Amino acid sequence: MKKIVIATKNQGKVREMRAALAHLPVEVLSLKEFGQFPDAVENGSTFTENARIKAEFYREKTGCACIADDSGIEVAVLGGAPGIHSARFAGFHADDATNNEKLLQELRKAGVKESPADYRCALVFADTDGSIFTSEGRCDGTVQMVPRGENGFGYDPYFYPAEYPGRTMAEISLAEKDRISHRGKALREMVCKLEEHLK
Ligand code: IMP
Repeated sequence: MKKIVIATKNQGKVREMRAALAHLPVEVLSLKEFGQFPDAVENGSTFTENARIKAEFYREKTGCACIADDSGIEVAVLGGAPGIHSARFAGFHADDATNNEKLLQELRKAGVKESPADYRCALVFADTDGSIFTSEGRCDGTVQMVPRGENGFGYDPYFYPAEYPGRTMAEISLAEKDRISHRGKALREMVCKLEEHLK
């Protein structure tokens, strides 16, 4: 049976993608099952370029078809920052808390209390025959200075999705987030493409 490797070290993403691919006629593996690999050098200038770099890097390492993602948040008053630098907005040792502190600092500097923003996700599937499939998802909303909610991760307590007025991404359930999120949308588009490709 054909093998597809989910090329991320984030176990949350592995779980989400594994569930979405479960009905396909393939064996789904994660990088963990191959032992230790170095990180890919993500020097692309778009989410899709970085996802492709990771998918092709791990296809080379594993010899299997790979699917990889890249995601982040774009804040309008910050000119689209942090974008592809979302994971390291506050610097090399950044975590969710320091990234969110940096976000608040930048909003204060810009003299605003809120800004339109969107989450983006790109997925790339790199097959062993050289074929490449891409999909993208976007979730619009605003970032505001008041954090709310305990769910989710990253910037979620500050992100108010347009679909759930008055609630942050950290206040809605996982199922609700999956329905509207950048990652949920990109994943559903990719699954449609893979259903065709694997026929
Ligand atoms: P990467 O896709 O693993 O490179 O991470 C992108 C970064 O964007 C994460 O570390 C988070 O800071 C942020 N991010 C991406 N998706 C989400 C989301 O669904 N909620 C909150 N933050 C996110």
